[in-house]
Amino acid sequence: MELRFFNTLERRQMAFDALVPGCAKMYTCGPTVYNFAHIGNFRAYVFEDILRRTLEYFGYSVTQVMNLTDVDDKTIRDSRKEELPLREFTAKYKQAFFDDIKTLKIEPAEIYPAATDHIPEMIALIQTLMDKGFAYQAPDKCIYFSIEKCKDYGKLARIDRENQRDGVRISTDEYAKDAVGDFALWKAWDEADGDVFWESPWGRGRPGWHIECSAMSMKYLGESFDIHTGGVDNMFPHHEDEIAQSESATGKKWVNYWLHCEHLMVDGTKMSKSLGNFYTLRDLQDKGWNGREIRWVLVGAHYRKKLNFTLDALAQARETLGKFDALFDRLKGVDSAGEAGEAAGLVTEAKNNFASAMADDLNIAPALAAAFDLMRGANRLADEQKLTKAGAMEILAAFRDFDRVIACFEVDAVRESAAIPAEVTALAEARAEARKAKNFAESDRLRDELAKLGYAVKDVPGGAWELKKL
Ligand code: AMP
Ligand code: ZN
Repeated sequence: MELRFFNTLERRQMAFDALVPGCAKMYTCGPTVYNFAHIGNFRAYVFEDILRRTLEYFGYSVTQVMNLTDVDDKTIRDSRKEELPLREFTAKYKQAFFDDIKTLKIEPAEIYPAATDHIPEMIALIQTLMDKGFAYQAPDKCIYFSIEKCKDYGKLARIDRENQRDGVRISTDEYAKDAVGDFALWKAWDEADGDVFWESPWGRGRPGWHIECSAMSMKYLGESFDIHTGGVDNMFPHHEDEIAQSESATGKKWVNYWLHCEHLMVDGTKMSKSLGNFYTLRDLQDKGWNGREIRWVLVGAHYRKKLNFTLDALAQARETLGKFDALFDRLKGVDSAGEAGEAAGLVTEAKNNFASAMADDLNIAPALAAAFDLMRGANRLADEQKLTKAGAMEILAAFRDFDRVIACFEVDAVRESAAIPAEVTALAEARAEARKAKNFAESDRLRDELAKLGYAVKDVPGGAWELKKL
């Protein structure tokens, strides 16, 4: 089956054609490790995980590189605030990032290069740009990339070159969308940098943010590779500048396919640290949600559409995943003999629909619809006593297969809830009803009843509850 992606560079869907058949090389801009990542960031990382897993699903061997930005304006600022050496300060957030991606079942990239371990590569790349006349040292001692020299600057973001302001130089890592100008490749040391600096042919300083992605991607993936991803906010200036640096240095096309994911929103605005409207993964875990539920919410919307985040969506995720869990437990209990029969047809149809949806620019809605259809079909067959052990096994195998991409179905988990007697569940339900009706005396009585039967009940957001054996 042909894989198709929307290539931002060309603003159209294109068949994916890898430089080396069967191998997909991709670079994903990673976190700036100065704080815990928020779930808006994780929307981007989960999208990249779905992309990676889809490539693998279709037989590609994937080499993914994700950088860790462990030196920039923000990491320096905050490490100084905490009076910690930069390395010690960023180590904590690097570890937090790895813990978080594990929680979200994000498959690890092959390589996580840290910027501070690749300063010589960055200096070499800047030197090439100097030698070729694309870069210059300004009176402030910083090295800038001259966008005048790069004829197709603006091709990714489709920046209107007419509006470029001559002579503007930008030394900070992040700048306003309308500020098109020469950007810093190397920043000369100043007092705010404290003891953070490296020696270079141009004096003490540190690299700019954009150059790290060019240098590290080319080190590990070569001068040309297949896919580069990030959030839409990375398109300009970050990715535009990466292209300018890389292609000016090598004279070759750098990346063939650019994929960008839309934002996670809160009440109509982008979730972001600076606006303060964010949840970290840990915030949500503290509220009782688990990685699987959060992943389900992030996975559920097409990556090129904005996704509005609500706690209610997490409650729905819990309910939906509970239905899948119940199906898996039900299927495992089927042991009648005979051929797979009707189940085999349902499985073939669901797998075809799933694969063709994912191949179509990761079209998640029809892919998940295939999983829901299979759940409905399986429950119907079970209700009608038409399911055999062979059929049930085929259905379970199909969900395991979908889970290679979705990574939310826990087909083989041994669930405590499966062993909870119906009488106990009924008491817990009655208690939830009593709470809803604000009949707290009754709900307390039912809690005690449950305790007598050996179960603790815990309320979770959205009116749901969990039972634990005491
Ligand atoms: P940053 O640490 O700000 O460089 O962001 C890391 C990644 O998260 C980048 O790919 C951003 O585009 C992405 N990102 C940041 N905020 C959001 C959001 N609200 N929704 C989706 N992706 C985001
Ligand atoms: Zn980058």
